[in-house]
Formats: sequence, C-alpha cells, structure tokens
Amino acid sequence: MNYISTRNKNIKVSAAQAISQGISKDGGLFVPETIPALTEADFNKLKSMSYVERAAFVLKLFLTDFTDEEIDYCVKGAYLGSFDNDNPAPLKNIGGNTNILELWHGPTCAFKDLALQLLPYLLTTSAKKVSGGKEIVILVATSGDTGKAALEGFCDVENTKIIVFYPNDGVSAMQKLQMDTQKGDNVFVCAINGNFDDAQTGVKKIFTDNSVAEILEKANMQFSSANSINWGRLAPQIIYYISAYCDMLKEGTDLSNGFNVVVPTGNFGNILAAYYAKVMGVPINKLICASNANNVLTDFINTGIYDRNRKFYTTISPSMDILISSNLERMLFEICGRDDKTVAALQADLNSNGKYTVSDEIANKFKDLFFGGCCDDEKTLSTIKDTFNNKDYLCDTHTAVAVNVYNNYVETTGDNRPAVIASTASPYKFANSVLEGIGEEICSDEFSTVEKLSSISGVPVPAPIDALKNASPRFNNVCEKQDMIKVVLKNLGL
Ligand SMILES: *Cc1c(COP(=O)(O)O)cnc(C)c1O
Repeated sequence: MNYISTRNKNIKVSAAQAISQGISKDGGLFVPETIPALTEADFNKLKSMSYVERAAFVLKLFLTDFTDEEIDYCVKGAYLGSFDNDNPAPLKNIGGNTNILELWHGPTCAFKDLALQLLPYLLTTSAKKVSGGKEIVILVATSGDTGKAALEGFCDVENTKIIVFYPNDGVSAMQKLQMDTQKGDNVFVCAINGNFDDAQTGVKKIFTDNSVAEILEKANMQFSSANSINWGRLAPQIIYYISAYCDMLKEGTDLSNGFNVVVPTGNFGNILAAYYAKVMGVPINKLICASNANNVLTDFINTGIYDRNRKFYTTISPSMDILISSNLERMLFEICGRDDKTVAALQADLNSNGKYTVSDEIANKFKDLFFGGCCDDEKTLSTIKDTFNNKDYLCDTHTAVAVNVYNNYVETTGDNRPAVIASTASPYKFANSVLEGIGEEICSDEFSTVEKLSSISGVPVPAPIDALKNASPRFNNVCEKQDMIKVVLKNLGL
C-alpha cells in the first residue's frame, strides 16, 4: 500500500516514508492509495479480539511495509501497561441509545494518547527502514493536549528529540503545568505569544523551509511531525471506532440502521478517522461534527464556504480553539473524488485569502455525510450540569460540546438510532470549568478544585493528574511567533 499527496497524486511513498516524513514536500497530506475494506468475516474475528489484537489487525491493512512482528511490537508497547483500563477505549452507555466512548484512560488523560502512545513506535520503526539512522526531530504545535501527549510518548525515546510550542494564553492551567513539568532528556517546551493557529502556521513553515531542512540534513537530523497531519497519528484513531462497533455488536445492540458518531472537533483529525472507519465498512450513519464558538466547521458544513477570517475566541474547550482545521484537506480530497488539482487550488485560496468556496456538488456531499453544530461556553456549562444531574455522568468541557450538539441533532432530526459520542478528555483536566458547570464554587488552587470535584461527583482522580501536585516546572520559555525557527535551531545546537 502506497501513500499519495492530497495536492499531487504523482507523489507516492511507502507507509514508513509517509510516517517518518510527516507531511508531503508539496505541503499536501499523505493518504493511503486505497482504503482497505473490512468484510463481515473480518468483523466476526475482530469482535472476539482484545483491543491490542484489533489494533494489530487494522494496522496491518494500512502499514503493509511493516512486518507482523514489527506491528505486534508497536501495539503491545503502546497499549499494554500505559492505560488505566484493560481496554484503552471503553464504551459506556449513559441511558437509552447514547454511548460515551471514553478516550482518556491514558497517561495524559486525553484522547490523543491513543495515537501518541503508538506514534513513537511507528516512527522509530519507520525511520529505521527509510532514513538510515538519522535523528528524528519532532516539532509540535499544540492547543494543549497534543503537546503533553507527544512529550509523554517521545520522552527518552532513543534517537529522537521533541520540541513543543503552545499558545501562552490558550491552554488551561493544568495543561500548562502538565507540559512545563515534563521529564526527559530529549524534550523542550516553549510558549509563544500568539494563538494555536500562529503556532501551527509557524511549525508548518519550518517544516517546508528547504534551507532549514539542509541545515538538519548536514547534522544527520530530520524533522517529523506528531501533529495529526501525520498518517501515523490518524491510523491509530481509526481503530477505536472499529473497536466501539465491535463492542456494540458483542453486546447485541440493534445496529440494523447503523449508528451515529459525534465528535468534538478542532483540527478535524478525530472525526476524519471516524469517516475512514465508515469507508472501511463500519455502519456509521451521520458524522456529527461539534464545534465551540470557533464554529468555522459548522459554517462550512452548512454553507460550503470555509472562512477563517473571523474573530478567534478563547473558550473553556481550548483544544478546539482552531480556525484552520488541517485534516479537512484529507476530507476534501476524498469528497471531491480524490481530485488533487481541486484540493491544491482550494488550499492555495486558503493560504492567500484565508477562505475558499467549494462547488455545490461538494457542498451537498458534505451535508449528506455530516451534521455540523456548535455551542458557546454558557451552553457547554449547562450541558455539563444537565448531563451530571440527569445522566449521572461527569463530562469535560470538550465532551460537553459534543453532547450539546448531539442533543440538538436529535431534537431537530428525530434521528434516534444508537450514538457513539467521543469523550476526548478527563473532566479533571478542566476541573475549574467542570466544577463551575455543576454549579459549585471553584477553589483558589487547581488541586483543591480537583479534590472538591472528586468528592462531589464520586469520580476518582486519574493518577497522572494527582501526581502533578508534587511536580515542579522545568520549563518557563516564551517566544514571539516569528522567532520559532531560531528557538528550534538553537535548541538543536545548530
Ligand atoms: C485535540 C482535541 C480535540 C479535537 O480533536 P481534533 O482531532 O483536532 O479534531 C477535542 N477534544 C480534546 C480534549 C482534544 O485534546
């Protein structure tokens, strides 16, 4: 199976090359040449497997240049021992047809662990195959959760270095503390004066700067990406949608009309993974795309116009405070029949005008597949309260956005088939907002808030959050967005 660029189908590389490179040289994103299909017999097999076995089964379809032994080594390393649950992605029914897919049982308590515990294994295995011992430098732009999950995944991984940039005022206190206290000899963390899109644009610029690439080449180093533009991030996310389907099959849920998937969305990576699971044969009906006040995707799904020229809001669901959803490029590629010229033209519009308009035909296809909705902070808080009071379920701010949009979807469409709502973070990662949501006073320090939330809700505090209480920050760097290149080169000693 080869991987092609969304902007030029003639660029064709192996899976190992796509993963170690991160992004295509033309700025496009790598996608598999074909999407493998799962048969009924496959699902029957998958149904009785453990999560690790399901992961290996699915990855073997996408990473055909890896040996079975390599894939087994990667998935076992990633998923055995680092999650607080035997199943890293358990499905919880909260009444009726509504199921919550809890994706935050990993070391950083957010869904990105599912991909970022696996990516270092995939990346180092890939690099051995294709780049002959070069040191891999991981550059990350984060809205909070990717950064910590990547730091944790790559911490002291041989032959790698990782540099993380986050928006100084765009992450929660807990997220900041998680990153600034990161251990490991190969890690570096820096805040920037700017928002997430500035950080992401800065990182993309460094990636595609040929002169910087040459400097690294001479030092026997190579950049790669742990952002969800890397195929090695997306493939692991497809697994849990397949796994959730298998779990429902096992429980005898009536899926004769399929089921809906609801995803709190930022960069469009998580919901894109659900789309790929659908293409592979998982009977997903609607893909419900939930946004916060930064509702650029809601507008796009409803109008066919993507326009990032708008006010940027800093919200209580910061990991979704994004106006340029990178992975939408892969979705465009699929929806316009894999027409690389159209994608290249649209992305060029986005780069120069911050905006593009798709044809009516493409817009209608988006509307068939997706439902787009959004909610502001006030509604997010009231949803946390209602879900806690009526469903006895405590959800974080991101998950609450998804629950809110889902409730609206059911109200407007009457579509009551089973639903899987992706729960992307532990409520304790955003304890202040969650406590406020359930109508309680927050405490003067973060950890008292965490304890208060736990005593009221009866939900235990995850061990990694508890451990932060006694950790002291190692990093307190801040830079201007135009200085990111300098920071990177200096940190690499170049
Ligand atoms: C990253 C993140 C999201 C958004 O996921 P995308 O793949 O970027 O759409 C939502 N919720 C949380 C908690 C996250 O960390």
